[in-house]
Amino acid sequence: MPSEHLDVLVVGAGLSGIGAGYHLQQKCPGKSYVILEGRETIGGTWDLFRYPGVRSDSDMFTLGYSFKPWTEPKAIADGPRILNYVRETAADNGIDKKIRFHHRVKRASWSSQDARWTVEAERARDGEAVAEIVRFTCNFLFMCSGYYKYEEGYTPEFSGSKDFAGRIVHPQKWPDDIDYAGKRVVVIGSGATAVTLVPEMAKTAGHVTMLQRSPTYVVSRPAQDPLANKLRRNLPAKLAYHLIRWRNVLWGMYFFQLSRRKPARVKQLILGGVKMALGPDYDIATHFTPRYNPWDQRLCLVPDGDLFNAIKQQRASVVTNEIRQFHQKRHQAEGRQRTRSRHHRHRHRSQSAGAWRHGGQRRRPPRRFCQDAELQGDDVFRRAQSGVVVRLHQCVVDAEMRPDLRICLPPDQLHGTPWLQAMRAA
Ligand SMILES: Cc1cc2nc3c(=O)[nH]c(=O)nc-3n(C[C@H](O)[C@H](O)[C@H](O)COP(=O)(O)OP(=O)(O)OC[C@H]3O[C@@H](n4cnc5c(N)ncnc54)[C@H](O)[C@@H]3O)c2cc1C
Repeated sequence: MPSEHLDVLVVGAGLSGIGAGYHLQQKCPGKSYVILEGRETIGGTWDLFRYPGVRSDSDMFTLGYSFKPWTEPKAIADGPRILNYVRETAADNGIDKKIRFHHRVKRASWSSQDARWTVEAERARDGEAVAEIVRFTCNFLFMCSGYYKYEEGYTPEFSGSKDFAGRIVHPQKWPDDIDYAGKRVVVIGSGATAVTLVPEMAKTAGHVTMLQRSPTYVVSRPAQDPLANKLRRNLPAKLAYHLIRWRNVLWGMYFFQLSRRKPARVKQLILGGVKMALGPDYDIATHFTPRYNPWDQRLCLVPDGDLFNAIKQQRASVVTNEIRQFHQKRHQAEGRQRTRSRHHRHRHRSQSAGAWRHGGQRRRPPRRFCQDAELQGDDVFRRAQSGVVVRLHQCVVDAEMRPDLRICLPPDQLHGTPWLQAMRAA
């Protein structure tokens, strides 16, 4: 099979892939590269997720590119605006011309003898059901392919869900035809997606219940950053952007360090904020006090306290419990979920632990390569949260252990120059 050779092959045309393209063009102008994208469009996450109110959950001054100021008024930004920002970056810098759409990478193998990767992708031409395999070789493989499965979001098995007469929707595949106005809705979970969805759906739904197994730390933050907006009015765009970006990065580092060193104080601070938002009578101990310390797990930001406002106005509520089963009867399917009593909770938790533990938290121990590497599987190239390990369908490559493999994670995650030096040398 003929193959095309490139200095660098980037996988994925999301926020990271477009950023990688920019840095490659700027810092390694002599190197040839293409971006292989499995879907038909740019944007990754910001194109895929279409649920109501989809937004960033950190500020765009830090999530945005260092080289392109974020100029929108909202710091915690709506999904379509982020998508626009990514597309604009690609178009302004000619990165869009480097993208090969409908190329889903399926396999990559490294040869020490040839010092290069061989990468196979499935190319699906428009309207053709059967994809053909195309092959590339490259000196350096730059993986910007995200961290979750694009085909399907994690969906636990709930007993009775097949007979449930209501509609079950996953936010990763939000249908165009869903009308929840006036209906009673249950949102399962209380992570970043849930705290985004609940206040947004509560604007038109009959009532929204956020059903959580255990609480999350939730912090309110202004959607618009007043100091940032003031600086942007009075300073050149790039200077203002860099000042705000650094202020936010340093503030984030300080808050994280404080959480590690004085967890009780930070916990009190966060819970004090929730109490102020929801009032002294609200049961914060049950619904907003996690079992862990701040930043042991991720914190959730809510812009302008929108979740708390929806709860205060009784358009939304929180239930802290576990699902026993989806009930079949129609009047219950229309919104009332039966949740288990505290009495049943512990007994059932041990019975259902197998299902719950599939929630992405179980990790396979890293399997390190002794020989040349071969990566394959349906969902090749997953990035683990640690940022240094590349998680694949069946195995784990420790990128630090094998720098000779010339494999790289998104530029945002690898600060400093090692990746750049390696790529220049490739
Ligand atoms: C609703 C939501 C809000 C978020 N908010 C924030 C936030 O505020 N701050 C933050 O830091 N993070 C946030 N995240 C995480 C977010 O996904 C990342 O920050 C960022 O968008 C990831 O960009 P990426 O380019 O690395 O990956 P993605 O956006 O996932 O893009 C990966 C691209 O790779 C392509 N791809 C994958 N596998 C292959 C393959 N085998 N072959 C070819 N192409 C492939 C995909 O089609 C996709 O286009 C959020 C996530 C979600 C879902």
